[in-house]
Amino acid sequence: MLDEGNDWNSKLIRSIFPEDTADAILALRIAKVGETDSLFWPLEGLGEFSVKSAHKALVKHRNAAPSSLHFSQWKDLWHLKLHDQLKLLLWKVTWDGIPTKLKVADRIGGRGQLEGDLLCALCGEHLESLHQLLFICPYSRSVWSESPWQFNIALFGLGTVEEWVRIILHPHNSIGTPLEDQHLFQIFAVNAIDLVWGARNQVVHGGKESDPRELSRRVCNLSWEHRAACQKKLSLNKLQTWVTPPVDKTEVNVDVAIRQNFAVIAAIARDFYGKIQGVVTKQIKAARPLEGEAEATKLGLEPSVSSGFWELILEGDSELVVKAIQRWSQLSEWCIHSTVKEMLEVGKGLLSWQVEHVYRGANEMVHHFAR
Ligand SMILES: [Zn+2]
Repeated sequence: MLDEGNDWNSKLIRSIFPEDTADAILALRIAKVGETDSLFWPLEGLGEFSVKSAHKALVKHRNAAPSSLHFSQWKDLWHLKLHDQLKLLLWKVTWDGIPTKLKVADRIGGRGQLEGDLLCALCGEHLESLHQLLFICPYSRSVWSESPWQFNIALFGLGTVEEWVRIILHPHNSIGTPLEDQHLFQIFAVNAIDLVWGARNQVVHGGKESDPRELSRRVCNLSWEHRAACQKKLSLNKLQTWVTPPVDKTEVNVDVAIRQNFAVIAAIARDFYGKIQGVVTKQIKAARPLEGEAEATKLGLEPSVSSGFWELILEGDSELVVKAIQRWSQLSEWCIHSTVKEMLEVGKGLLSWQVEHVYRGANEMVHHFAR
């Protein structure tokens, strides 16, 4: 800087730095008025740091490298139906971020001195690298030879770790795993990495050894468990769609839409074939959601009596209203107390009726009518 502090001392700078660096420094604009220095994050317009922009920049940078995953493959990775921590592991694997002995030694430049201690912590047979752990180590080989697919993982070791990740992302397209097996394969492959690496860490940090067969069993059990949990979640989602009533019954779905100055309640009756038997909508005074739900339920009940639906299943998505009816002897929310009482009176005119709580998804159609 020149003495006044408002311009560069170009002579000095050119004498110290190579030409291109000096050019870059001299190109920096200097504030003409005094200002205190502050940190500025150039990837966000306002200069404030955000994880999102940092991640985006990293991905962009990695994508620019010739051998990394495509952007869409990153997306595939994050969309895998796996626990987040397993996705994170796979992500680290892709970026070669697993601190194996070779990796650590290379990072601190100590491959030469540490040579003796660079052998795989599990088998002690080869230098420990990610590639070795995944494809060469007898532990991984045992896991895969006893997997449902029973293959020789060493064959995949002819390729790179990244290629293996691509296979895990799309096993059907890349190695022809049957579509119905695809998800289990993904769960299994990532669990295999997780547990082999975990077993390796136990040896390194805890001195505890496990044998390959036991590890294979654990990978198998855990993978089936994950898949079962995942399928259970899927079947729960299925319950969220409307199902037809038994053959001799009528099913009435009810719902309410609360507006600024009024509310609309609606009920729709369907038979065993899913055929609509009747739809009623009614505008009522502005109500709280709970009162509206109770009114809607009553609306579903009353016309049913006059239409001759003798056996009725009422379905609504308000758990409180459903409970208030089901457990009438116990106290219900005061604001729906009288409505529920009226319903029970009306219900006496039917052969049988019951009320069930359903999820929004199963109540879709009437929800539509109330809007
Ligand atoms: Zn090994």
